[in-house]
Amino acid sequence: MSDPTPPESPPQEAPAERELVLELNFVPEWARKPPSATAFFNDRPGRRDGAHRGDPRNDRRDQRGSRPAGARPGAARPGSGGGRAPSGRDRDRPQRPERPPPVRPLPLHVRFLPDDRQIGALIKRIRGNQRAYPLNEIVGLFLSNPDACRVKLESTDPAQRLLQCTVCGMIAFDRHSMDTHLTHEHLADFFDIETRTSEPPTGSFVCVAKCGLSGVLLGPPNHNTYAERVDEVYRTSYAHLPLEEYRRQISTHHDEALIAQWKEESRTQKFFRPKGQPAETPALKWGAAVALFLQKHGPSLVKSTAHASLSVALARQVNHPGLAQTLADAWQWECRTPRALTLAIQGALRGRHLEVFRVGTGTRFVTAVPPVPLDPERAIPSIRSVLTHLRQHPGCTRAQLLTELVPGKTSDDPEAAAILSPLRWLVDRGHIIEFFDGTMAVPLAKP
Ligand SMILES: [Zn+2]
Repeated sequence: MSDPTPPESPPQEAPAERELVLELNFVPEWARKPPSATAFFNDRPGRRDGAHRGDPRNDRRDQRGSRPAGARPGAARPGSGGGRAPSGRDRDRPQRPERPPPVRPLPLHVRFLPDDRQIGALIKRIRGNQRAYPLNEIVGLFLSNPDACRVKLESTDPAQRLLQCTVCGMIAFDRHSMDTHLTHEHLADFFDIETRTSEPPTGSFVCVAKCGLSGVLLGPPNHNTYAERVDEVYRTSYAHLPLEEYRRQISTHHDEALIAQWKEESRTQKFFRPKGQPAETPALKWGAAVALFLQKHGPSLVKSTAHASLSVALARQVNHPGLAQTLADAWQWECRTPRALTLAIQGALRGRHLEVFRVGTGTRFVTAVPPVPLDPERAIPSIRSVLTHLRQHPGCTRAQLLTELVPGKTSDDPEAAAILSPLRWLVDRGHIIEFFDGTMAVPLAKP
């Protein structure tokens, strides 16, 4: 079993404001670009293509895509009398999928934070050189790589608490969603699975239902195994979808060959025995195993909480429609106005003793070297000329500096060397800021 709930990432308090206002009069074009929105929650990896764990019938999944031509939305629901023969006109005919009902955002406060490991690696890279990087570009890195973030949720309704899996950290907003998650992800941790072969079902059947996502035959809708079989396929392969949405993918077929195929496949059944039990202990069918699993282990695998934190990669697999929509809306908002993520990243950078400074009244930059103004009049002549020139021409590169201070000299010329040699020391001391693109400027003291 994997580790218990990952530790929450506590919001890192930003230390007291200690910005040094730098009167640099250039702001690179790239620094003004807003971070691009990423609709990653609308592109959830939810369309798992029928990876029906432990089921040898997986290979028969429909090759025509996730919504095959034969899928008939709303058909063959348990107890719906699916044995009725449809008219020849609508039989196996593709139909427009029903529009899912609108979902209302939940009473949750959602915040996105940089993942500790990701921001740690970034800080290490910034420390690896002495250059300054634009904060909004750093934030953009996280916005364009959502899996580098964590999401923190807090219920704003005292009567409504979140449920969180203590094994992997997945969250749910109702017991059904959490039970589905537990069954899908953790049942196999507690049961040994055994496959047996038996006689095929007897009786005559007029139709058979088929999962439109995996191609798995579910049986005649009026057969006593049908409801459990639908539940099993749903929970083991499509738990990331709302149940109603999954049911819309089921179609019925009046094909004798398919009915015969289902009978043959029904001979093979899975049985479950609690791990550690002797072989003579009776094995359970799937439904009974799930009921026992949830009753015996469910309480210890789930905690009720007012706030939870989990990786965005995990949050993308949330199967509750309202919860998924709330997360999607929050992410879209963050992409448009990444204020909360910016504050969190800035706090993390400052908490690790990086310097965040503002250029004029605009762009913020991050560096491992605190800018330290140096009065050119107190420097030796070669350094004085460099500082004075950069003050008058912020944004110079090394090559431009040489061209403008010692025209016609190459870098190996003694005059050029006198200009270049102190630059590393000046940058290391923070008397010159070297930006990520090789341009330079000098910090100016507050008036
Ligand atoms: Zn879990």
